[in-house]
Amino acid sequence: DAKHQGGNVFSLYSGDMDANQHKKMTIEEQMLRALDHNEMYLTYQPIVNLISNDTVRFEALLRWENPILGQVSPEDFIPIAEQNGYILKIGDFVFQQAIAECKILQQRFNQNFSIAVNLSPRQFRDRELLSKLTDTLQKYQLPARNLIVEITEGVLMSDIEHCSRVLRELKDLGVSIAMDDFGKGYSSLSYVRNHPFDIIKIDREFVRDIASDHKDRQLVETTIAMSKSLELEVVAEGVENQSQVMVLRNNHCKYAQGYLFAPPMTCENLYIWLSRSMRVQMN
Ligand code: C2E
Ligand code: MG
Ligand code: MG
Ligand code: MG
Repeated sequence: DAKHQGGNVFSLYSGDMDANQHKKMTIEEQMLRALDHNEMYLTYQPIVNLISNDTVRFEALLRWENPILGQVSPEDFIPIAEQNGYILKIGDFVFQQAIAECKILQQRFNQNFSIAVNLSPRQFRDRELLSKLTDTLQKYQLPARNLIVEITEGVLMSDIEHCSRVLRELKDLGVSIAMDDFGKGYSSLSYVRNHPFDIIKIDREFVRDIASDHKDRQLVETTIAMSKSLELEVVAEGVENQSQVMVLRNNHCKYAQGYLFAPPMTCENLYIWLSRSMRVQMN
């Protein structure tokens, strides 16, 4: 009977794979139909200018709500999408949505907003990356200077020649390039030195304790100073409290992003957030 078969299936699983692998398989199965079932959507997190206190940039962060798995973190499904190639389909969706919504917000607020999208290694190796971005910018009439791509050092780890060319082409197109999670790996420093980056995003792990930990504060201070001399913009990630902001301001860090200012929000909620923050600015 069905119950008995269920038992057999279970024992087969427990023999050959652990709970983690089973979860991974379910994620993979469910993911392959996620976009067609409209289960994925973008949220946007404001990147705040600490000097002017205004917000003209947002990072697009992907969300997936699945009927079986619930909310699945991108930390859990992006690596799997990297392995099976589905990331290319996800990437297309992200470009379309992020660029279209940035354009809509620009028009509604009459502001020169920019949008940052994350790119993973496989997307960066995609031979069609440049044409996809160009076409999408063209389609929604968003200037390339309003697009930022965020990459981690992992993206640059393989086929350095190809990567250099893509970075150059992105620059020529007018897109800005950000080194994400700066300081987390071993090589981000040499990458920002040797490639045409515009922005450094200090990993939130380093920002977390800057108000209390002397060493962490020194590391962040040094990173900010170095960015200045390399003429790179700095964004502090994961800012959660006012004492972190004080340290960052004292060190002339221009941009910050984190729950203190706003969590990642749907486009609708971002619209409300922007309406409010602009009203506050005018008063
Ligand atoms: P990331 O690009 O470094 O994104 C920043 C992460 O920090 C986001 O996690 C964000 O929700 C979280 N965060 C923001 N403010 C705070 C804060 O104050 N405190 C703490 N503790 N966390 C904060 P999220 O959204 O879970 O994304 C995780 C990673 O998944 C991203 O790291 C990025 O590498 C990847 N990812 C997200 N969306 C996409 C996408 O559309 N495409 C690709 N290729 N990767 C994506
Ligand atoms: Mg990012
Ligand atoms: Mg990051
Ligand atoms: Mg990250």
